[in-house]
Amino acid sequence: MTEAAIRIIDLAKTYAGGKQALKGVSFDVPRGQIFGLLGPNGAGKSTLINILSGMVNKTSGTAEIWGFDIDRDARNAKGSIGIVPQEIVFDPFFTPLETLENQAGLYGVPKSQRRSMELLRAVHLDDKANAYARSLSGGMKRRLLVAKAMVHSPPVLVLDEPTAGVDVELRQQLWAYVRELNRGGVTVVLTTHYLEEAEELCDRIAIINHGQLIANEPTRKLVGMAREKVVEVTVDRDLATVPSSPFFDKIELKGERTVVITYNKDRLNAGGVLAALQGEGLGIVDVSTREADLEDVFLNLTRAVNG
Ligand code: ADP
Ligand code: MG
Repeated sequence: MTEAAIRIIDLAKTYAGGKQALKGVSFDVPRGQIFGLLGPNGAGKSTLINILSGMVNKTSGTAEIWGFDIDRDARNAKGSIGIVPQEIVFDPFFTPLETLENQAGLYGVPKSQRRSMELLRAVHLDDKANAYARSLSGGMKRRLLVAKAMVHSPPVLVLDEPTAGVDVELRQQLWAYVRELNRGGVTVVLTTHYLEEAEELCDRIAIINHGQLIANEPTRKLVGMAREKVVEVTVDRDLATVPSSPFFDKIELKGERTVVITYNKDRLNAGGVLAALQGEGLGIVDVSTREADLEDVFLNLTRAVNG
């Protein structure tokens, strides 16, 4: 038994046809966290999730869920995880209530322990309990999938791109519910290609790109890893030529008196930028800096891997 909620070692997948979707990925998802698996479209996120759910067969490597090996202890592994797939697939002939009852039956949850209405209330679908599934909007269907993933009360909930096609208000409701589950002890893994979403929700973020893990850090540390900083400076006279410094990575004129300077924070700080401008005889009128966000980190890391 490991202490990790999910442990993945050297996981690889080559699809029939030769596409190498995962090239040997290893990481742990610590128990109790909201963990983000971030990466652009085609990175291999769904492949990884679908291996955990048993929908895709891995080519090599191992995976454990709550200490249970997905091959040797498939039944317990499956029972420990609830998965909300990226693709919405529903039987249109069942109502939301029936959908949850069927799923509970599939997982062998005794009638006395079922809590279908409670789950529907939690995802704000109790008024649709007996509606036709086909009458639900895209956002409602996705919330129903979240409830469906929770019928057997798994300790780990995985959501694959949960906010695709969900409007802003419902997204907030979905996140509120996810946070509530997490506070109740459920480990949450979500994949997304939205950086802000991962940054806002996740304790820890792993980034995959082209089937390889390129980062796995606490969110705060990852954000701090952004090395490029940008500062916008307004000076006291029109700039005939663009001032230069060997320490700037890039400098652009934005207006007659405003320049946008990109620098590497390992080599320089904003004070150094201003000193360099003053060294050119320019007076500083106004300064604004932009805080590094995940976008910067992501671009830096993917650039480093690709080039
Ligand atoms: P993500 O979820 O990060 O967008 P996927 O895991 O869906 O990425 O896809 C990773 C790569 O594997 C992509 O290049 C995709 O085209 C390919 N792929 C996904 N599913 C299949 C499949 N069933 N057969 C062949 N290639 C696939
Ligand atoms: Mg995907």
